[in-house]
Amino acid sequence: MSFSSLGLSAPLLAALTGQNYKEPFPIQELVIPPVLAGKDILGIAQTGSGKTAGFALPILDLLQKQVESKNRHIRALVLVPTRELAIQTADVFQKFGAKLPRQIKTMAVHGGVSINPQMIQMQHVEILVATPGRLIELVVSKAVHLADVEILVLDEADKMLNLGFRMELNQVLEQLPEKKQNLLFSATLGMDVGPMARLLLHDPVRIEVQSETENIDLITQTAYAVAPDRKGPLLRYLILKQDMPQVLVFTSSVHKADAVTTKLRTNGILAEAIHSKKTQGGRTEALRKFKTGALRVLVATDLASRGIDIPFLPFVINYELPRSPKDYIHRIGRTGRAENPGDAISLVSPGEEHHFKVIQKKMGKIVLLQESNEFDLKGY
Ligand code: AMP
Repeated sequence: MSFSSLGLSAPLLAALTGQNYKEPFPIQELVIPPVLAGKDILGIAQTGSGKTAGFALPILDLLQKQVESKNRHIRALVLVPTRELAIQTADVFQKFGAKLPRQIKTMAVHGGVSINPQMIQMQHVEILVATPGRLIELVVSKAVHLADVEILVLDEADKMLNLGFRMELNQVLEQLPEKKQNLLFSATLGMDVGPMARLLLHDPVRIEVQSETENIDLITQTAYAVAPDRKGPLLRYLILKQDMPQVLVFTSSVHKADAVTTKLRTNGILAEAIHSKKTQGGRTEALRKFKTGALRVLVATDLASRGIDIPFLPFVINYELPRSPKDYIHRIGRTGRAENPGDAISLVSPGEEHHFKVIQKKMGKIVLLQESNEFDLKGY
């Protein structure tokens, strides 16, 4: 199957050349034609499936056939739960949008940064990727108008509702015209998302692609039994001995993320932390450096385990296990993505062993706990 057989027009196909997108991913094959046909979509899919391009490409195609919208009147609105996902999603629109004969301006807006520059930059924006809270502030201050929205995307709807964005979402939906195309993507169709999908979507095309749990077979999982005070040296030993070029390390607290990062640095390993106590600028910059390969280790709390897409990430290390088995799957799902296999390593202290068994049971997969006593960690 090729992109040209999905109904995308010549300018979009031209924008695709030169990118690493040779063939469509399964979700793109399923999503692009009905979006081009103006249908509503209910997509059950995770980040990593390629869903962003699945909606971005046909949206750009539909909009590039029209003249520019009235200034500050948004045509396509994409709502996302986190700042990182807002930036990442806008990047996909910008990457392809910049190559079109009629330039379509896309912008990401999110909280955590000053609102004034966003208000100024809102000039001539046609596609807006936003977290709900900041969007409402911009609407209230009349920096942006939503009455002409033709296409609405709710991305990671389950996460948005879990994070308590229901009220803000309803407020935004009230601003939108009744007649528009609605695309809803969610990792699950739980009790929260189901009713919203039924209210919002009209005769939707339902699309479901393989879940991360099923994808797990791609990932090589290893676990080491290790005393808590040997976790730091073991982490550094593994990174150096296995010559890991790019590693995402998960800790369970902000404090631990900072402590692990400091220790890596004092041992000469380039590392930075991202978590909720970092400024938005710091988080974006660390992520950028990590994605471009300028940073070897990114230490993160679970904030980074959902939504963030780092293509071809070879290693994920759980310095500490997450509380929920679902988060474990999301964490290790950062590797083995875009059909590239990766390694996930967990450092399991005696106090975590029981919990690790629960995780394996939920995941439906056994991961042998290997002894780490024989590793000589002196000097690490
Ligand atoms: P997403 O689920 O949208 O975050 O996409 C996951 C990753 O797959 C991103 O790094 C995309 O750049 C990449 N990707 C999406 N579609 C394709 C494609 N057709 N060919 C190659 N890479 C793709």
